[in-house]
Amino acid sequence: MKFKSLFDVIMDLIFPPHCVFCSKVVPSGSQVCEKCDAEILRIDAVKRIYIPNMGETILCAVPYLYQDKVRQSIIRFKFYGQKQFAAFYAKKMAEHVLKSYLPLRFDAVTSVPISAERRRLRGYNQSELIARVAAKQLNLPYYEYLIKTADNKEQHKLNKKERNKNVKGVYKAIDGRDIAGKNILLIDDIVTTGATLRECASVLLQSGAQKVNCSAIAEVLA
Ligand SMILES: [Zn+2]
Repeated sequence: MKFKSLFDVIMDLIFPPHCVFCSKVVPSGSQVCEKCDAEILRIDAVKRIYIPNMGETILCAVPYLYQDKVRQSIIRFKFYGQKQFAAFYAKKMAEHVLKSYLPLRFDAVTSVPISAERRRLRGYNQSELIARVAAKQLNLPYYEYLIKTADNKEQHKLNKKERNKNVKGVYKAIDGRDIAGKNILLIDDIVTTGATLRECASVLLQSGAQKVNCSAIAEVLA
């Protein structure tokens, strides 16, 4: 059994942990209440994303559907500063990744970047937070491989055709990164048509990655 430090005990009393889905106070060390844990649907899906210009199909392991309490929770995580939700989502993601990709042969974990401007405004990249924790849980190194060079329109405001066009050319591999020959797990927050993951995976493959597969917290049913 692991004992908590006095500091942690005091912090839990002053700032008790809350359920990521319904905000109810939960016991120390927990991130979800019993009711939500039992009720929230896990789809544990593996979505296929075809990359026409590479002739490759990549997979995306997704534990949740982007609806109801999951949707509200992700919005709080992404736009309202609830950075601590990353630990919960990373755990659920890592569990599903372990089951979906057998045997687990990844060399590295990376995430879909946001633009420097958006990062400045939001203060963090939600996908990177999840990816860093998930990498630790999977016992894999985390590397930044990509940057987003333009602030394009938000994907959720566009239709399928516009989404593909909107992400074209906005992601680049960071100079000098050792991508060649790597088997990479690419992480994003949510997946809809797969346009963003397709574009990022394509950049990684063009930079010499041997294989790319993905994971996202939740799938938006278009
Ligand atoms: Zn709850």
